[in-house]
Amino acid sequence: MIDKLEMIPDLRSMYIEELQQVMVEMGEKPFKARQLFDWLHNKRIESYDEMTNLSKGLREKLARDYPLMSPEVVEIQESKLDGTKKFLFRLTDGNVIESVWMKYRHGNSVCISSQAGCRMGCRFCASTIGGLIRSLSASEMLEQIYEICRITQERVSNVVVMGTGEPLDNYDNLLRFIRLISDENGMNLSQRNITVSTCGIVPKMYELAEEKLQITLALSLHAPNDEKRKELMPIAFKYSLKEVLDACRKYFEKTGRRITFEYALVGGKNDSEEDAKQLATQIQNINCHVNLIPVNPVKERDYVKSEKKVMENFKNKLEKYRINVTIRREIGSDIDGACGQLRIKYIDKPE
Ligand code: SAH
Repeated sequence: MIDKLEMIPDLRSMYIEELQQVMVEMGEKPFKARQLFDWLHNKRIESYDEMTNLSKGLREKLARDYPLMSPEVVEIQESKLDGTKKFLFRLTDGNVIESVWMKYRHGNSVCISSQAGCRMGCRFCASTIGGLIRSLSASEMLEQIYEICRITQERVSNVVVMGTGEPLDNYDNLLRFIRLISDENGMNLSQRNITVSTCGIVPKMYELAEEKLQITLALSLHAPNDEKRKELMPIAFKYSLKEVLDACRKYFEKTGRRITFEYALVGGKNDSEEDAKQLATQIQNINCHVNLIPVNPVKERDYVKSEKKVMENFKNKLEKYRINVTIRREIGSDIDGACGQLRIKYIDKPE
């Protein structure tokens, strides 16, 4: 299935220069590539029929040789509390993925998936329960956003790659996605408004630091030492906390972009004062911001949220060490809010 999909050329994942080559191969003038790119990524149409400045013959050839494949919306859940919307998409090979649309005072944000499933195995995360099925193409990442724009008819100002999957485990497609969505001839989203979250695949973090991008790197830390991190995240057996934090320092040094640390507070596991103190000493000399997230209980796992007071204490302790810290507002808690929950529910009992 995967091989077959990869054999179908995917125009929406191509850079303008690559489209130029396709045009030349089809006996067309290279400038047509810009028009095509504009239709695909700026006007974001769904069918070649709408590309009125391309000849009918070219449109027919494109439709035959390069079918446009868009994920199809299967379900939309809307939170009655805050208007957060969760979208379940079916990809052309039948796999399902989810994305979340969030309204904030400073603009709308979309959280996208980078893979169908995930092989990182974090203990508290629903996305990893069925393992990795496959990585998404750049166009499958783009289309989550484009389709949400078509449906909501609203602008998107922030994109976070924090849905299902480990983006740095799908590195090449992720890079293509970032370059395409920030292309001035396309959606032209500022890279400063893109956040990529990783569980900490150290060699890829170093590679990313060299790409000359302006995106924010978010590191899922979740523990103040290796021992506790190993209990929550199998990746910690591969890379030590020191190695991960060194990679974060390098990322800042190379890009000037402040690191975001994500820390899911799990009741009784990583939320003591001692944990906060240890965390503070580990990250004190890194230019960073800490995002505390009350762990979202997943039915398949037995973790519980920290109490409100415990969270406040944890935050205060970090602040004593002059660390920038916020407790992430819980949104969409009345829908299947946690990473991968809607998808898992759908896979459990499809239709
Ligand atoms: N694989 C990447 C991105 C996807 S997960 C990563 O690990 O960062 C996005 C964020 O949600 C991560 O910080 C992840 O640890 C967190 N997360 C996953 N399940 C969660 C849950 N049940 N409660 C709170 N945060 C969760």
